[in-house]
Parts: sequence; structure tokens; C-alpha cells
Amino acid sequence: MSNPSSRVGTVFLVGAGPGDPDLLTLRAARLVMNARVLVHDGLVDPAILAMAPKGCRMISVAKQRSRHTMRQEEINALLVREALAGNDVVRLKGGDPFVFGRGGEEAEDCFAAGVPVQVVPGVSAAMGAAASAMIPLTHRDAASIVSFVAGQCKGLTDQNWAGLAGVGRTLVIYMGVATADAIAEKLMADGLAPTMPVAVVENAARPQMRVLRGALAGLGPLVSDNKVKSPALIVIGEVAGRGDMMELKQVLEAVQ
Ligand code: SAH
Repeated sequence: MSNPSSRVGTVFLVGAGPGDPDLLTLRAARLVMNARVLVHDGLVDPAILAMAPKGCRMISVAKQRSRHTMRQEEINALLVREALAGNDVVRLKGGDPFVFGRGGEEAEDCFAAGVPVQVVPGVSAAMGAAASAMIPLTHRDAASIVSFVAGQCKGLTDQNWAGLAGVGRTLVIYMGVATADAIAEKLMADGLAPTMPVAVVENAARPQMRVLRGALAGLGPLVSDNKVKSPALIVIGEVAGRGDMMELKQVLEAVQ
């Protein structure tokens, strides 16, 4: 691609939130609606992609090369290439770009190539799931510390999660569905009570959302018996059990 004006485009790293287009920031919505080049991954809801204008070049980096995810370096290179060709690029990511979104790597490569970057925060899945499932992540009577961890990362068993969960704490696990069993074992080995409440929120802030609740000792079966699929979040801590009561109250009020 030639760039005779040698204008360098800006890469906008934009958070698309957990799904519902209503949860986009105004800034994100404005950028999507005016995008000319839009690069998105698989977690972005089709309803949000449909907001892009006609003629916008949509590039999916989720299902390139017969269903193989594009490698991160290739995505970074694509963003740089487009910007150096003079195009502003809207890089849409599920949730928030800087929460397990590899937005940091994309920003670093852009900066290294002299491409300006702007980051537009989004509603991360933890906030989306908490709101939809009535799980207050903090609560004066129950939790004053919240941790976000990735359940599917290099060397899960080597990581030290001691102190991240337990009384007065809420642990939110992203990408933990496949390793739910191992996560429960690990936390109980660290001394967490098997009765500690857990909630699994699948497809938060989407029409097909499911919320499953139980206790830590039963987390593995809760996920496997219900065939929970990605994207789903696991919340562990006393607050995970609180939403149950509130959800029930709302249902009862609705039928009265
Ligand atoms: N940047 C994203 C996270 C990307 S990692 C954010 O801030 O939300 C991908 C993980 O996020 C998924 O495996 C899942 O654990 C979680 N996730 C994303 N969207 C979700 C949704 N709608 N419901 C539940 N979990 C979701």
C-alpha cells in the first residue's frame, strides 16, 4: 500500500465491552460508526460489528487462515502496516483492551513503529458479569479486595494464588473454564474452604447468558455437567453467593 502523503494513521485500541452494544462507551460507539478500517477479534458481538458504516473494511483476526487464530505478532504487524499506509484503524477488542486483551503488546509495537495509539476503555467482562448476575465485586460486609486472574496461562500450577481468594476477597477468573477443576483443587490446597461460594457466568451481558452457582468443591462438575463454554467467568468468594438472593427476589417481585 503506498502512502504518498506519508500521513501516519492512528490506531485506536477500543474496548467493545462484554457484548450488549448498550455497554459501549459513547466514544467507542462513535469510533465504530465512523470506522474505515476495523480490526476485530472473535469476542466482539456481531451487533456491535453491524454498527460499522457501509464501505468500512472489516478485518477479522479471529478466523483467518481456515479457522486458525492470527498470531499476535501478525496482528501487531497488520495494525502497523495499515497505520503506516495512512489509515486510522479501529482495533476492537472484547471487554477492555488492557485486561487480558494483549492490548499492551499491540500498543508497544505501534509505538515502536512510530504509530500513534489511543486507548478507549471498555466494560471488562468482570464488571459486565457482576452487573448481570447481581454479584457485587466488593461489599462492605464481604469483600474489600478484588483480583483478576487468567486461568489459562503458562504454568498455572506454578503460580502463587495464595492470598488472592478467601474471606474478605473476591477472585475473578478469566479464561478458566477449561481448567476449572484444577483451579478448585489449587485453591483448596491453598486452604480455601470447600464451601466457599462460586458463580460461573457464561455469556455475560448477552441474551444467552447463564449464571450457575455452587460451592468451590463442586466447581469442576458445575462447569462440566452444565457444559459451560467460553466465554465464561468464574467468581469465587462470599459475594458470589449474594447475588443468588437478589436475583431470586427480583424474579419473585416480577411474578407478583
Ligand atoms: N479483554 C477482555 C478479556 C479477554 S480474555 C475483557 O476485558 O473482558 C477472554 C476471557 O474473558 C474469556 O475467556 C472469558 O473468561 C472472559 N469474557 C469475555 N467476555 C465475556 C462474557 N461476555 N461473559 C463472560 N466472560 C467473558
